Amino acid sequence: MRWKTGRRSQNIEDRRGLRISRAGLGGGSIGIVILVLLAMFLDIDPRIIMQGAEILEGGFQSSQTETQPVIAGQEEAREFTSVILADTEDTWKVLFPEQLNKSYKEPTLVLFSGVVQSACGFAQAAMGPFYCPADQKVYIDLDFFDDLKKLGASGDFARAYVIAHEIGHHIQTLLGISNHVMTLRRSMNETQRNALSVRLELQADCFAGVWANNAQRARNILESGDVEEGLNAATAIGDDRLQKQSQGYIIPESFTHGTSEQRVRWFKKGLESGKISDCDTFKTKKL
Ligand SMILES: [Zn+2]
Repeated sequence: MRWKTGRRSQNIEDRRGLRISRAGLGGGSIGIVILVLLAMFLDIDPRIIMQGAEILEGGFQSSQTETQPVIAGQEEAREFTSVILADTEDTWKVLFPEQLNKSYKEPTLVLFSGVVQSACGFAQAAMGPFYCPADQKVYIDLDFFDDLKKLGASGDFARAYVIAHEIGHHIQTLLGISNHVMTLRRSMNETQRNALSVRLELQADCFAGVWANNAQRARNILESGDVEEGLNAATAIGDDRLQKQSQGYIIPESFTHGTSEQRVRWFKKGLESGKISDCDTFKTKKL
């Protein structure tokens, strides 16, 4: 990607090196239950939250937040994230009025290391980047980019796709889709909820593609091989691929993000058309 000369975003909140106070944990088991409910809606595996809560209970004795030196070696990743965030701002600020007759409200992107507190609860870096609709912030530990590489998704456009996917969840929140999905979930069983989650996630993939299409047309950011990197990343983080890697078999009813093939298809759909209206994963019969 040609990103180095790109604009940097003003909406980065850098919480790397910040520790969470024990007092800030609050809520006890009720807090954790709420956390799990919220987590099931996000890019988070609730089981990880449970573990995270336990670790926090036992491990974080310090009662004040303190900053530690900013992690070395992350400066390029930070710059990159800031430029991609700025590009999503510039892109969606044009697309919202153009395609939806609405105005775009920029989200904040929080950089953290280890654990973080969001309006959706505590999160651990191990569960990857996520978006919290309650505070309209994207949370990312830059070490995730290394994990992505280990999963077989290398390259800068793979990283941009992940950021753009999280911004996709912000778009869903602005459009009222997230809220609607939350309401629907209440009267559903787990299998139905998972199926709905897949539609939500695939739409975020499609929105990531819409961003890339328009960013490319406006600023010519892509180099040869970039599209392949993005598609490769979508393949690497499909539910079927991840389940096969972690447990050796797949349970389709438990999918929450879609198969590799579906993630590639919807990302590509947005990438090729550049239109928000082509991302209706809720109405389509074939995901
Ligand atoms: Zn997602």
